[in-house]
Amino acid sequence: TAFGFRQVSEAEKQSLVNGVFHRVAERYDLMNDLMSGGLHRVWKDAMVTWLAPPRRAGYRVLDVAGGTGDIALRIVEASARQAHVTVLDINGSMLAVGRERADRRGLGANLDFVEANAEALPFPAGSFDAYTIAFGIRNVPHIATALSEAFRVLRPGGRFLCLEFSEVSMPVLDRVYDAWSFNVIPRIGKAVAGDEEPYRYLVESIRKFPNQENFAAMLREAGFSRVTWRDYSGGIAALHSGWKI
Ligand code: SAM
Repeated sequence: TAFGFRQVSEAEKQSLVNGVFHRVAERYDLMNDLMSGGLHRVWKDAMVTWLAPPRRAGYRVLDVAGGTGDIALRIVEASARQAHVTVLDINGSMLAVGRERADRRGLGANLDFVEANAEALPFPAGSFDAYTIAFGIRNVPHIATALSEAFRVLRPGGRFLCLEFSEVSMPVLDRVYDAWSFNVIPRIGKAVAGDEEPYRYLVESIRKFPNQENFAAMLREAGFSRVTWRDYSGGIAALHSGWKI
């Protein structure tokens, strides 16, 4: 049946994604710099600026698909080392790299690392002041389930922020971006990680992900209010914001 087919392909999707991140965990940060030409740093800084974590103890953030801790470490620094961030990822290899980075920077006490699935968060309702997810939601097989979990674990008044690749609608830039995605990214994947196929898959997954408007609609459907977004670099990335009122 169509339903049966969908289930198999989504299980495969998750295991393909898991395989990629297990293999590249150690080189993940380098890979990001090469594949985005360093732009991912600018987008991540902008995300944390928009979150504007307060400089007071007791602010709790859940960073889902947090990988090697890029967003979490920025949030802790932006809060003058006051915030507490739980980094959640389905992949233990990525978390291990994150934990090492946090310890090296003396931020171990501000962070904890939880290996779990974005679709089934192991926290009671209302546990967090903010939920962040950067370049992660696209990899989750059931996006609506992940969004309703996000809504559940936020406290009333809590903030949701999602940074993700999105739709480029600027002429010329869209062509350059296509050429980069389909030609350069798989080659970087092959050179750095020894394999280009998974990077073709990642590029495909960007194309399949809902555009800015449609993703905003999914957030509203999950219960979020005051949903807005900002485009970065002509829409290569978009940052969506919502509130649990
Ligand atoms: N947020 C980090 C960043 O921006 O650098 C890491 C992003 S990385 C592209 C995507 C991460 O999503 C990987 O670490 C992967 O293990 C994680 N991931 C994939 N599927 C997941 C799921 N179902 N639940 C939680 N994390 C997942």
